[in-house]
Order: sequence, then structure tokens, then C-alpha cells
Amino acid sequence: MIIIMERSATLSNRDRVIRLLEENGFETRIDVGQIFTAIQAFGDKTTVTPERVGALEGVKEVKIIREPFRLASRDYKNDDTVITFANGVKVGGKNKPVVMAGPCSVESRDGLMQVAEAVKDAGGEFLRGGAFKPRTSPYDFQGYEEKALEYLRQAAEKTGLLTVTEVMDACDLDMICDYVDVVQIGARNVQNFKLLKAAGKCNKPVLLKRGLSSTIREFLLAAEHILYHGNPNVILCERGIRSFDEQYTRNVMDIAAVPVVKKYSHLPIIIDPSHGTGQRYLVEPMAKAGLVVGAHGVMIEVHHDPENALSDGKQSLPIDMFKDVMARLADRQFV
Ligand code: PEP
Ligand code: MN
Repeated sequence: MIIIMERSATLSNRDRVIRLLEENGFETRIDVGQIFTAIQAFGDKTTVTPERVGALEGVKEVKIIREPFRLASRDYKNDDTVITFANGVKVGGKNKPVVMAGPCSVESRDGLMQVAEAVKDAGGEFLRGGAFKPRTSPYDFQGYEEKALEYLRQAAEKTGLLTVTEVMDACDLDMICDYVDVVQIGARNVQNFKLLKAAGKCNKPVLLKRGLSSTIREFLLAAEHILYHGNPNVILCERGIRSFDEQYTRNVMDIAAVPVVKKYSHLPIIIDPSHGTGQRYLVEPMAKAGLVVGAHGVMIEVHHDPENALSDGKQSLPIDMFKDVMARLADRQFV
């Protein structure tokens, strides 16, 4: 880190900073400028955090040189993380981008099965479907919980698709892991640190969505919690962030986040144009945009009867439209 001292800082302020750092194994170098003095410090930031240094008398600013997410960073691991599933599907690296598709919520066995067959026929790899739903209003549909997980498993058995569903509470994690191949942590829980820790200890890959107001750094630090607690298999998902225009798009899809994340992290990243835009007609162009900038996959909401969906019908593709979109995504190689 680089510590810039206040113009008014005294020599004893400066020495106090250096002493703290050196006592904790840091090497330091002082640059005395005409106006400001800067201290370069090299060492283990877990022993003295930048926050602690920043709180010392006379410190103006502390700049971090290395990214604070260590395990998720390219500095730690330069090669792309590739997650390989039992059926041979791979997510990440130079592998063909994957498609995760399905209803927002699992509603009925028959409806889910229709969607699952369509996802399979169209060449998708994962069936998605919510069993535990994070809803803004308590009056909205909350999900069929374990019943929905059973339907997901039945659809997986019938089609051979992999499955992904959201976990909202650490106490449900073991049960959910028994049913599905990937557990999703949704936008609203990206900073639920107990849940991230629990996901770090589970034996299934985690699909981690970007929070509604997460910076890219906060997003990668959320992934860091999962890695830190022992689970190396994290797939990131850009799903749009909140902005001021809600009239035409539900969120602002941060397409640039894909190459940014790929530059700084080895973890795979997919995009979710359904939640990212909230509009059915925007799913295809934004899916393509994500693939053009190098996403490792797309997540698309599909419903057998969107007009009567219990959640997110407006952004869900009907089955025929999904098939057409999939045909146009073709080999999903736009890069
Ligand atoms: C979802 O995928 O169903 C979902 C609720 O997504 P997000 O957390 O991105 O809103
Ligand atoms: Mn949804």
C-alpha cells in the first residue's frame, strides 16, 4: 500500500505509521516530496489493514496496490477456472458458453417439464428454477420450496440437464445441495456473509449474482468469501444494477463488467439479460452482447405460459421464442 501523509503531519505521526508497519513485518520506503510525504509499504495486509493505517493521526489517504480480493484474483491464479460437471459440461475458460434457462419460479411439474424439454431440445445445459423466491413484497408468490426441488430433480432425471436453484438461507443449503447441481446466491444476498460462508463449505458450485448496488470490487469480494471458506467453484453472474431509469429497463446491464471481471479474476462469469433488462424483447440482444464481450454463459428465464407466470412473466420468454433465440445464438461464439 501507499500511505500519503497530511501536509500538516508531524515527524512523529510519520514514525508512528512506519513503526506499526515494520513491527508487523512490512518493508517501508519513504518518499519525501515538496508538499506531501508518501510511505510505500510492502507486506501482508491481513496483519495491518489499510483501514487501520488510515485511522492513524496524520494519514491523508491509503492506496491499495494489489486487489483486495486475493483468491479470486489473477495474481493468485492466472489460469481461468473451469468447472467440470459429472456429465462433462464445462463452465469457464475457452469452453463453449453455457445456457442456463428455465422459469423464474418452479410452479407446476407439467409446466417445468415442458420448459425442461425445450431447454434440452434447444441445446441448453442447465435448467434453472426458483424454489425459494426472494420477493420484494410478502404478498407475492414465495416459492414451493422442497416440492419445487423435487420437480427440478424429476426434470433433470428425464432430460439429463444440470440444475440450478437459489438458496436464501444457510439452513436450507444442505437440503438444496441434495437436489441440484449448482446453488445460486441471488442479488439480494450477495452480502449475506453467513450465507456466503456456508456456501464456501458446501460441495456444489455456487452461482453468485451481482448485487443490485454492488461495485465490481464488492462483487469479487463476495466471491472471495466463498473461496476463502473452501469452495473454489464459483460462477459469477452479471444481472444488472439499479439505476435511475426504470421505465424502459428494470436494471442497467453492466456489459463492461464481463471483460473487467475477466481481466482481474480467473472465475467464470455469465450474464443474465432477463433480470438485467426485465423485458422479453431485450433478452436476445443483451444475451448476444454478453457473449460478444466474452461471457462464459447466459441465464434466460423461460416460461410455458408467461402471461400467467407467478413471477417475472414480463421478462420470461415463451417456449417458441426461446427456441428461436437459441437458434440465433447458434454456437454462442460471437467473440
Ligand atoms: C432469479 O434468478 O430468480 C433471481 C431472483 O435473480 P436476482 O437475484 O438476480 O434478482
Ligand atoms: Mn426471476
